[in-house]
Amino acid sequence: MHLIRGGRVADVDGTREADVAVADGEIVAVGTDAVAEIGGEDAVDTETDASGAVVAPGLIDAHVHVMMDGRPDVATAVSDSDYTASYRAVGNLRDALDAGVTTVRDLGSRGTLALDAGDAVAAGNVDGPRVLACGRNVIMTGGHGNWFGREADGPAEVRKAAREQLKAGADVLKCMATGGVLTEGAVTGAPELTPAELAAFTDAAAPTDTPTAAHAHGEQGIKNAVEAGISSVEHGTFMDREAAEMMAERGTYWVPTASALRGVVDHGTEAGIPADAVEKGEDAAERFGDAWDHALAADVPIAMGTDAGTPFNFFADIPTELEYMVDYGLSPAGALEAATVNAADLLGLDDVGRVEAGYRADLVVLAADPTEDVTAWQEPESVFAAGERVA
Ligand SMILES: [Zn+2]
Repeated sequence: MHLIRGGRVADVDGTREADVAVADGEIVAVGTDAVAEIGGEDAVDTETDASGAVVAPGLIDAHVHVMMDGRPDVATAVSDSDYTASYRAVGNLRDALDAGVTTVRDLGSRGTLALDAGDAVAAGNVDGPRVLACGRNVIMTGGHGNWFGREADGPAEVRKAAREQLKAGADVLKCMATGGVLTEGAVTGAPELTPAELAAFTDAAAPTDTPTAAHAHGEQGIKNAVEAGISSVEHGTFMDREAAEMMAERGTYWVPTASALRGVVDHGTEAGIPADAVEKGEDAAERFGDAWDHALAADVPIAMGTDAGTPFNFFADIPTELEYMVDYGLSPAGALEAATVNAADLLGLDDVGRVEAGYRADLVVLAADPTEDVTAWQEPESVFAAGERVA
């Protein structure tokens, strides 16, 4: 039995004094009487001193690309071999873990790269957070991300493309409901998959209750995706009040990925980002604050996601997304909720997101209470993944 002793625990249920006992990858007892619960001091084999520190759930990032490395121009990775992309994923997963991120959801890599990365972590072959993945993105011919997506047109073909991902072991299905910032020629907000195609897409996921995610910037694309019953809108940059109200009404999650926009806008063409992407990014950034106002006013459920791997958006910096969310108006406690229980709910996981007996021992030890100081997430003193101290 490992005991994290003498600290406070902070999760969605609040901050309180508590020791945390861990065994076989799980949390077995939490509280001031945790030692008594596990059978006294004799049951404690090893311990971590958390006096003055705060034990919180490991972060869950609902939107990453493990094969991408934050280079300024994503198009230059097209000619990389699958092996190169795979080794890059190994480095990204290690960086995420060091940053206190214990679960990631990959929303688009080549072939089965991210699905296989999840297997490699589960088998203990590489160190990393638990990886859930969508396989390949389902997109219209020529649509956003077409260099690695599965192009499909018409409801029947979209349904088949979605089923192919399920056959490959996808934990989530991802499609493109609008154009994007990083694909040259694509218009950021313009609808891509049609309402009928989106309906076929979500219908393919329904029998297995597989979550679905739609990349959507423009308000029409967002509404199309929400009406089709999508589980989460990714980016949602041009969300208007009507779209926000539709999402709140249906419980559709918003994954804002502020880090992706900041990476493009804060670095610009002088850092090597293509001019076309910078121009679209700046336009998007101008509207993004309004999207936050609409989402917060309508009470849209929010899950944390970064789009890590896009330009200057590194896995090591994932916890900065929580600070950005607070900049846009979420409370630090709201950011914690978005990055723990909300993200877990969106991913369909019921064993992570809380510091509670029976949950996976995915934990970070922080110098301060993240519900008071959101920057506390950025320098974890130690990280536990499934009970193992990994950083
Ligand atoms: Zn993405």
